[in-house]
Amino acid sequence: MTTPGHSHKPLVGVSQCLLGDPVRYDGGHKYDHWVNRVLGKYFKYVPVCPEMAIGLGVPRKPIHLLASDATTRVRGVEDPGLDVTDALALAAERTLQDSPQLSGFIFMQNSPSCGVYTVKRFSKTGVLLDRAGRGEFARRLIDQQPQLPVAEAQELAEASARASFIARVRAYQQEQFGV
Ligand code: SF4
Repeated sequence: MTTPGHSHKPLVGVSQCLLGDPVRYDGGHKYDHWVNRVLGKYFKYVPVCPEMAIGLGVPRKPIHLLASDATTRVRGVEDPGLDVTDALALAAERTLQDSPQLSGFIFMQNSPSCGVYTVKRFSKTGVLLDRAGRGEFARRLIDQQPQLPVAEAQELAEASARASFIARVRAYQQEQFGV
């Protein structure tokens, strides 16, 4: 697959920890080879760490998906009184407003903010209920822009998934922005 000239590279949002930036709750990162060394040739990245964007800072106390009755909220692991669900949803809306030219988004898996599939959900007492959750930032972003091509970084380790994602992003860019 040919790499495009810089000016035509689609803008793609990315969970910032995947780029190697130390924005995780413990000051670490999740540098991803495929995102950086391979897909980085095709896309111009717009890095976003929603937990930093809502002012949680580094280091920060971990958060997780807490499910009760019909609702799932993003709450502090140690302090369930901390509820950042609405703030994360707002961060997603702001991301789309600030970057209207996005043609795709690559999310970090297993995160209560960024995970798209199979994010763990816990009960009030800390028992693992299921892996049917979606991070709140990802959820709102996808709800707002359902046609936007999205992927979790882990699936892009496969060549066929990368090729398909690049094709979807290019098609979206062409369709939405005519470039
Ligand atoms: S998974 Fe999302 S919220 Fe967590 S550190 Fe990475 S970019 Fe930030």
